[in-house]
Amino acid sequence: MTEVFTGNFTQQEPIPEAAVEAAVRVMRHGRLHRYNVVAGETSEVALLEQEFAGFTGSRYCLAVASGGYALSTALRALQVGAGDRVLTNGFTLAPVPGAIASVGAEPVFVEVTDQLVMDLDDLQAKIGQARVLMLSHMRGHLVDMDVLMEICNAAGVQVVEDCAHTMGAAWNGQASGTQGVIGCYSTQTFKHLNSGEGGLLVTDDAEIMARATMLSGSYMLYDRHIAGAPAEAFTDIRLDTPNCSGRMDNLRAAILRPQLADLPARCQAWNERYRVLEESLRNIPGLALIERPEAEAYVMSSFQFRLPDMTQDRLQHFIQATAKRGVELKWFGAEQPTGFTSRHDSWRYAPAQNLPETDRVLACLLDLRLPLTFSLADCAQIARILADEAIKHS
Ligand SMILES: *Cc1c(COP(=O)(O)O)cnc(C)c1O
Repeated sequence: MTEVFTGNFTQQEPIPEAAVEAAVRVMRHGRLHRYNVVAGETSEVALLEQEFAGFTGSRYCLAVASGGYALSTALRALQVGAGDRVLTNGFTLAPVPGAIASVGAEPVFVEVTDQLVMDLDDLQAKIGQARVLMLSHMRGHLVDMDVLMEICNAAGVQVVEDCAHTMGAAWNGQASGTQGVIGCYSTQTFKHLNSGEGGLLVTDDAEIMARATMLSGSYMLYDRHIAGAPAEAFTDIRLDTPNCSGRMDNLRAAILRPQLADLPARCQAWNERYRVLEESLRNIPGLALIERPEAEAYVMSSFQFRLPDMTQDRLQHFIQATAKRGVELKWFGAEQPTGFTSRHDSWRYAPAQNLPETDRVLACLLDLRLPLTFSLADCAQIARILADEAIKHS
């Protein structure tokens, strides 16, 4: 019997009732703008910032319009501008090189290893080319943060962390996004919190937070933040910093706060699903799993594996065969990007760069989403189909 999976890989869970009710309350009073408060009121956005700062153990937090906006704001707050170069991963999602391009800077791509993290030897070799590294924890894989920070600190390079896939994850017990000088998160539908669009930026540096706050479009209302920089940090910054509006609104924040309270349980649910796939696929000949370092506490809302021995032709047949059986795989080796772009050579606005290791890794890398609408039995069925087709095509 050939099993067919009938689940939907892009169907997330509904918004929890408590979040729906919170959203309705905001709509009933009509004060959707974060600075539109009555006497004595603290806005939903300010409360979300306070709660997320607490969640990550950061001093300051700013909520913004998207993850990509958080990334470009981070660069602007570090005063990266036209003609500057920024180190980043050769394998990430388009908003990362896009954020670099949006400030007129140029990405310098660093190779990724077959464990899908930044190649630290290549980073060391390129470290002198920029003063900022935008490190992407692509697909939830954390590089050895101790070694990476050592390399960057020794070279005086500031690290901005793209935590779109590591919200809730940690390295040696320290929240992802707090090793570098700035951590950026996304609350877009396919990430770990869902407000449709949205982003969060954390830092312990008052001056950086003051700049980011002014950039986000704070006017002179920054004293309405409760996880914001102290007033004295704004003395010059409030007049010297352009307004590049990208605030979050109270409706999104209201939807996010109850989800944040549930996040640890949701992270656990993702990892249970991930481990079903990992365990079921561990001993399939020709199928290579991504090994997880001891120091990494991950949150895997997606699953990656490699088929390093398969020819490109057989790989394409494998992908078609699994698709016929209801298992949608994203292949990062395809000639033409579909759906979204994640490969350095798809971003033609950046100077072309030679990344043979990354190209070799991506040529055999496959990826699937694990929405929480899938049961553990669904994940077991997906694993059986993948194993069956991998063996047939090997
Ligand atoms: C989703 C994502 C972002 C930010 O995306 P937005 O859609 O702008 O919120 C950044 N980096 C990675 C790796 C992502 O997947």
